[in-house]
Amino acid sequence: MTTKSRLLLIVTFMLLGLTTATIINISLNFREFSINSAVEKSKLAANIVKDGLTSHMVNGIMDKRQYFLNQISSNNNVEFLRLVRADSVVKQYGPGLNEETLRDAIDKEVLRTGKTIKKITENPENIILRITIPYKATTNNNSPNCLNCHDVKKGDTLGAISMEFDISHMRNSGMMTILKILGINLLFIVVVLILMNYYVAPYMKLFSNMQEGVKKAYSGDFTHNFSSSVGGDAKKVVNQMNSLFGKMQETFGDIKYNLATFIPQGGMSSTDPLQEAKTIINELSDIYKFKKTIELDASKDAVYSRVVDILKIKYNLDRFSLYEVNNTQHNRKPIYTHNGDSICLEYVDEDSTQCRAHRTKTDVISSEFINLCQSCKANNLHYICISFTINSEYSLVLSISTEDSDELNRIQTQIASIKNYLEAAKPVIESRILMDKLRDTSLRDGMTGLYNRRFLEEIIDKIMSQADRNKETYSVMMLDVDFFKMVNDTYGHDVGDKVIVALSKILKESIREADLAIRYGGEEFVVMLNNATDEGTMKIAKNIHSAFGALSFDVGNSETLKKTISIGIAKFPTDGDTIWKCIKYADTALYEAKNTGRNKIVEFKAEMFKSGEEF
Ligand code: GH3
Ligand code: MG
Ligand code: MG
Repeated sequence: MTTKSRLLLIVTFMLLGLTTATIINISLNFREFSINSAVEKSKLAANIVKDGLTSHMVNGIMDKRQYFLNQISSNNNVEFLRLVRADSVVKQYGPGLNEETLRDAIDKEVLRTGKTIKKITENPENIILRITIPYKATTNNNSPNCLNCHDVKKGDTLGAISMEFDISHMRNSGMMTILKILGINLLFIVVVLILMNYYVAPYMKLFSNMQEGVKKAYSGDFTHNFSSSVGGDAKKVVNQMNSLFGKMQETFGDIKYNLATFIPQGGMSSTDPLQEAKTIINELSDIYKFKKTIELDASKDAVYSRVVDILKIKYNLDRFSLYEVNNTQHNRKPIYTHNGDSICLEYVDEDSTQCRAHRTKTDVISSEFINLCQSCKANNLHYICISFTINSEYSLVLSISTEDSDELNRIQTQIASIKNYLEAAKPVIESRILMDKLRDTSLRDGMTGLYNRRFLEEIIDKIMSQADRNKETYSVMMLDVDFFKMVNDTYGHDVGDKVIVALSKILKESIREADLAIRYGGEEFVVMLNNATDEGTMKIAKNIHSAFGALSFDVGNSETLKKTISIGIAKFPTDGDTIWKCIKYADTALYEAKNTGRNKIVEFKAEMFKSGEEF
């Protein structure tokens, strides 16, 4: 029901209620008034009769009284009028006329009690008021003394007069009055409703129009055009609302547009600019906090671990893997895998081009095609894999899988948002990669690719404490090319460099992953073998020694050059309780080799170390 109809209905009910109350009130008052006036009339008639009869008595014409009574009844619209004598009067003067005998219980009761009885009989045809009034013996000065003629006491009931009046005409005129009032009121109601409808309708229309506009605004649409056929203040309000909504639309549109530029891939689905703005601001705020946090993280791995936390906590992801792909080496290493397991076949780690997401740089969503990624081993799972480029050298691949297709849909809606986080992490990861690289270059020797002495200085404490903790040993070799200066002097630096690079290559090839090869000085190298036995150490030293000795260097003019090296060996912790000591002792052993003819391997012995040179 419209507001207008409701308002009109309420007013109608109110006016009808008022009319009904008025009619009930008038009816009750009218009835009361009718009865009272009939009673008054009957009392008057009773007094007239009493006075008339007394006159008849005084004048001695009591036998003519019936004529008088008939006259009274006919003149006063009395239905019937009759007298009844009390026993005392009957005893003294006889029963009187026929009409004066005791007729009914009312007469009897009035004679007995001396009190007036009124009775109204209502039926559809008429309303009859029956009233029976007693006559009492009086001794008033103004009227004849009843006791002069009647053998009674003062106040005794001498008789009664019974009258019946038809008061139906009063009911009829009451009904007429009510009908007139009803008619006037109904006419008034109709006029009020017509006027209301005429004056209220435009306001109601404006109200509905505003309601519609506000409803649209609530869902973010501020394009509603308010209009009103009413002038004055209503028109002003309409104009103000239109201008306010115009501003809102423009402002929220601008906010949304500007905010969206911060999140280029924001997967907004709502058409409500307010809601969208709120979502974007929340997302921006979260991303800002994330970025501020990772900017203070020292390493790339720490940043990766934050990304993993966000995926787990914010996006509620459970089964996923994050990989760092080396774009130049075309391999990848896992940053995080769910329970250490991956949905990719093993060869993908070694050949990242087998990863469809990485190769195509598109999101791979299993629901798009059967067996979409042929490197996926988990055919029972739904998956989404996305590739994200960090720089020309590195990319990330995020592989999310689930058993539930609905969950896949949920994840799919979050991909754009996840990419926003990766986008925020990208410059930080890039800078950490650069830092790692810079650090690596400062710790490596550019010509040979081996670690340099600075690296050894930085890493030595870590190696020592790790060795202490894990009871590890290190065999430290110090190597130096024999008469190297001569190479430079005779064949030039280029040939000298070639010799150094060749020896470095042999060192790299001779050691395992846990071992270290360091370019310690010009043509001096330190090799540290982790957990090697004495025999093993000697075997490796001999291999290096003979491999280098077997090399022939082309020095031009069809000439070749052969070189030898000397090696000194000391063992941690048996020879020295610190690695630095062992390096020194290995150098001592090398010195011994040089002094005793070069081109040999010498193991450190305590007696080689001169007293006073202790650390
Ligand atoms: P010894 O048998 O006693 O070791 O004699 P040596 O001639 O090898 O003497 P030493 O080890 O003192 O010689 C080191 C020389 O290595 C001095 C330096 O000119 C040369 N050298 C150092 N670094 C480089 C380099 O990077 N390239 C070249 N070509 N020569 C270098
Ligand atoms: Mg040297
Ligand atoms: Mg040398």
